[in-house]
Amino acid sequence: MQDYYNPQAKRVAVMGGTFDPIHYGHLVTAEAVRHEFQLDQVLFIPTGKPPHKAADTVSDSESRYLMTLLATESNDHFYASRMEIDRSGFTYTIDTIHALQQIYPVDTEIFFITGADAFYQMFSWHNAEELLKTCTFVAATRPGYQKEELIQRISATIQDHPMQRFHFLEVPALAISSSDIRARVRSGRPIKYLVPEAVENFIKKHRLYQKEESPHDIS
Ligand code: NAP
Repeated sequence: MQDYYNPQAKRVAVMGGTFDPIHYGHLVTAEAVRHEFQLDQVLFIPTGKPPHKAADTVSDSESRYLMTLLATESNDHFYASRMEIDRSGFTYTIDTIHALQQIYPVDTEIFFITGADAFYQMFSWHNAEELLKTCTFVAATRPGYQKEELIQRISATIQDHPMQRFHFLEVPALAISSSDIRARVRSGRPIKYLVPEAVENFIKKHRLYQKEESPHDIS
């Protein structure tokens, strides 16, 4: 049994992401969604082996998990989960949702939160049709994000209940991005106040993000 399991939890969210590294934009997003949707728990689940990214373009999963753990410890509603990094093979969101459905009571509502750009690809995800039926989705957008095209695309795909289970939340703090943080570290610029101090220290101590990224690393 996972240590975050709470049989009383009626509304649980997966905060899905690569978290390379986790930053304040992610934390502010999760807290805003928690408040907006009255969530009992937010499970931050770093991706294991993403099907859409070359393995050598993403930092090792243990480092990403440990930074996620450090960043979430101070919030009683936040938990870091090893669920995806410990799973062998490619990481598919539908498998994560199925695993949570086995753990939580049948009437627990499961939310899935991630960046709007990631949602844009979701119709090509593994078992997308089923996934669309199992969760309530929250797409976090950076300021100025043009969501109309995404809304049209989703409505055209899920014609039965257009947009019913899709929500958008604009989060100004998402002006922070993981790719910018990695670039800052590489060029010796500060990342203080962009990530929690413990994450900043972890990056320094373990000398993450020192080497040049190839163009397809940038997300
Ligand atoms: P990504 O392509 O690395 O990120 C796309 C954009 O969304 C980036 O701008 C990213 O900013 C932002 N973002 C990512 N996670 C976020 C979060 N939790 N909150 C706010 N913004 C976020 O996407 P990814 O991280 O690989 O994947 C996102 C989620 O979708 C993961 O849970 C992944 O497992 C799932 N996914 C599933 C499948 C599948 O089942 N086949 C395929 C693809 C993705 P930052 O870089 O600053 O985070």
